[in-house]
Amino acid sequence: MAKAKKAKASKKFDVDPLSFTPYKEKKGEEYMNEKQEAHFRSILEKWRQTLMEEVDRTVHHMKDDAANFPDPNDRASQETEFSIELRTRDRERKLLKKINEALDKLDAHEYGYCESCGAEIGIRRLEARPTATLCIECKTLEEIREKTYG
Ligand SMILES: [Zn+2]
Repeated sequence: MAKAKKAKASKKFDVDPLSFTPYKEKKGEEYMNEKQEAHFRSILEKWRQTLMEEVDRTVHHMKDDAANFPDPNDRASQETEFSIELRTRDRERKLLKKINEALDKLDAHEYGYCESCGAEIGIRRLEARPTATLCIECKTLEEIREKTYG
């Protein structure tokens, strides 16, 4: 029945959600001008789309399998599998939230600036981590603090 759908879904991470053409800045180009904002909007939206399809797949997978194991032992191992899937979904949900926040920032033309010091986060860093909210210096400081104070 849902065979075609499953085969497609099993491709899971074949498509890199972050595959895109790196942005080429012109000399003297203004940071986060319209073109740059459009560039990151397209990256974030594509990423969100991929994630949402992934979340969908997980839900369907859990529903499909729930009825397939009448044996209690099978059920137990299946429940472990479910809890892994739930954790995955939780991670996906958090990531989706970050992506949405980044898109909100783009709407407000606040995207790409460090939340801590206001510096430009930088195009290359944002392409590596489109949901980054801190510049590399502040991020490093934060990590040191986290290591020190747990
Ligand atoms: Zn900073």
